[in-house]
Amino acid sequence: MEDDDGARLSGHGSLTMRSPRLAPNYRPLDVVLHSGDGAWVTDVHGRRYLDFLAGYSALNFGHRHPGLTAIAHAQLDRLTLTSRAFEHDLLHPFAEALAGLADAEMVLPMNTGAEAVETAIKAARKWGYDVKGVPADQARIVVAAGAFHGRTTTIVSMSSDPLARAGFGPFTPGFVVVPYGDADAVERAIDEHTVAVLVEPIQGEAGVLIPPPDYLPRLRAMCSASDVLLVLDEIQSGLGRAGATLAADLVGVRGDLVTLGKALGGGIVPVSAVVGRQDVLGVLTAGTHGSTFGGNPLACAVGLGVVDLLAPGDLQARARHLGVVLEWRLAELVADGLLAGVRQVGLWAGVDVAPGVGLTGREVCERMAERGVLAKDTHGSTIRLAPPLVISESDLHRGLDALAGVLRAA
Ligand SMILES: *Cc1c(COP(=O)(O)O)cnc(C)c1O
Repeated sequence: MEDDDGARLSGHGSLTMRSPRLAPNYRPLDVVLHSGDGAWVTDVHGRRYLDFLAGYSALNFGHRHPGLTAIAHAQLDRLTLTSRAFEHDLLHPFAEALAGLADAEMVLPMNTGAEAVETAIKAARKWGYDVKGVPADQARIVVAAGAFHGRTTTIVSMSSDPLARAGFGPFTPGFVVVPYGDADAVERAIDEHTVAVLVEPIQGEAGVLIPPPDYLPRLRAMCSASDVLLVLDEIQSGLGRAGATLAADLVGVRGDLVTLGKALGGGIVPVSAVVGRQDVLGVLTAGTHGSTFGGNPLACAVGLGVVDLLAPGDLQARARHLGVVLEWRLAELVADGLLAGVRQVGLWAGVDVAPGVGLTGREVCERMAERGVLAKDTHGSTIRLAPPLVISESDLHRGLDALAGVLRAA
């Protein structure tokens, strides 16, 4: 422990204290982290762990990526916040760079993922009224069951997860929920009031659910044919995780609007954006939408650094290469009857612990932590594996050895 921690904490309790003042809306694993470097984190007792969650893909470039922290440090010494009432010198360069990376016409910067999704919903609705000619307040958006798009009141209104919804009504109307991966169901749900179809190209929180390969191409075709916007939420699947800049690139589909977040902030600050068609985002004229912090100088500096990291394509290729290792290591565990199911794309996998193992996903994660690897369960028996894209191949093996060890010892 460095000496300055005591000074910084003096009068504020101990490093491992659990305060009843903290709202109980999370149940984290029993570790208290103190520092991080690349794919590794260290707790307050000096124990090191491999990070196999990577902040739900917000840490795709690892902890304290040296290029990104250097950019952030330099920006902290120059200009951090202006609000959008004034321009700053990185706002337009960030918009240009992100549009280039995502092959988009226009960029609207926000902060969190949920805000980007809210922004996409607002843009799609306003486009529906102003351009498509949908009667006032009649706009409908088709969404998928099992989706995760964030935690705001409107977003939980379209959730099919009882835990995310119960107790938070009344809900925002205007959403139609259909099964994920079922293009026919989307087609049946589209009518003359439909302004958008909003889906994750791969469902992350649901356990890395990969739709049939013709799903997105079919949604693309039916949206184009019916003058409906295809809105792709790439907040978790995008920016390298799936082995491509955007997961939809894997099937050659471009959304009319795409939401980005998580990794866009380089693991340093919250940065999100909606990118896409100029004639859609262009409906959000001055005064109709905004954010005090959206597109702030620190966010733009880090976001530009992230775009520069992804522009050459090496990290996307790395995710594909390491994904091959991940795939065969997990296939072994399936063959041995320890995993009941595996869904993998790039450096991203959802694995279902076989019932015969007799452990919940949570218990597997707890035992992995004892072996020095941090991962996160979802939906009972599923574990999501998403180490930083910068992880070494030997550390990837080390993390998978821990998973295999826990399953075999059970
Ligand atoms: C995490 C996530 C969000 C919400 O992002 P926040 O920054 O937590 O608000 C939205 N969509 C998807 C697909 C996500 O994974």
